[in-house]
Amino acid sequence: TNIIELKHITKTFEDGFVAVEDFNLTVKRGEFVTFLGPSGCGKTTTLRMIAGFEIPTEGEILLDGKEIGNLPPNKRPINTVFQRYALFPHLNIFDNIAFGLKLKKLSKDEIKRKVKKVLEMVDLEGFETRKVATLSGGQQQRIAIARALVNEPQILLLDEPLGALDLKMRKEMQLELKSMHERLGITFIYVTHDQEEALTMSDKIVVMSEGRMQQIGTPEDIYNEPKNAFVADFIGESNIFTGIMTDKLKVRFCGAEFACVDDVEHGRLVEVVVRPEDVEITTPENGAITGTVTSVVFKGVHYEITVESGKNEIVIQSTKTAAVGSQVGLNVEPDGIHIMIPE
Ligand code: ADP
Ligand code: MG
Repeated sequence: TNIIELKHITKTFEDGFVAVEDFNLTVKRGEFVTFLGPSGCGKTTTLRMIAGFEIPTEGEILLDGKEIGNLPPNKRPINTVFQRYALFPHLNIFDNIAFGLKLKKLSKDEIKRKVKKVLEMVDLEGFETRKVATLSGGQQQRIAIARALVNEPQILLLDEPLGALDLKMRKEMQLELKSMHERLGITFIYVTHDQEEALTMSDKIVVMSEGRMQQIGTPEDIYNEPKNAFVADFIGESNIFTGIMTDKLKVRFCGAEFACVDDVEHGRLVEVVVRPEDVEITTPENGAITGTVTSVVFKGVHYEITVESGKNEIVIQSTKTAAVGSQVGLNVEPDGIHIMIPE
């Protein structure tokens, strides 16, 4: 069943700037949904409308089928974890988590019980009397999550919550958040500009650009079948070429003709997306495309090889290296070719 629905949401700020435009989204109960897009594309604004910190200019927000667009934040069963976790540095962990509960005038015993429970949830039991400054970045982030969870929200919003952590800690926390989501069974709406993070964690990704939704789908959908050049370019590494359909299942690009699996009308100008891992490197005689190697970079698990062919530059991932300046041939299998029709 759907927990939250955004219908034709638009947010125009006082200065006339349209930060979010005609945004539509349905989130199922228990799902992990990620808003992914570059800085300034409207992710935080959308999250703030769900939380109730901003009121949409147009459109409806439904929770369990009921309109909540005008409810204040504290009347919504929704809590937010921010990038700057905003813990109170002069309070101990117990007081940081209990802060909101005290405002709600719960009994001392009940507060104690709830704080203990959420500390267990984030794997920091017994941390009640510790000072914020004695915790690592990752532990502080878990306390920020505990503080949001103590209100027993139905939906947890997370706005770039790992942005302040170093790479190793981020990777750890990504997996930890994902398993926390599975354990708790509550709905997570997560914001990031990091495509790898989105692919790792989400059930569903919403790709945004300039206030508009570009594509929504599973990580596999978004990666394998990008709907337009923006998505293809933003998600993972991509080669994007201009091509022309030379037959129903044939496309010409980079000076060669390829069989493809997308059925597009003959003569149509298209954009062709090819992932670097889908290009096979071979000898010049055996390649559909021939070109010159212009750079080779060792990336640990593979080499990233750039080949120049006429006006085109093609990036390839290969387990074997190649010599800069050498001539090579390139092939792409039909299912490695993704055809997009420009608008
Ligand atoms: P993101 O979180 O994706 O980086 P935001 O939602 O924070 O993007 O912002 C989207 C756009 O809206 C940005 O261009 C930002 O400058 C603008 N914006 C945000 N808040 C306001 C505001 N209160 N008034 C005017 N413009 C705003
Ligand atoms: Mg933001």
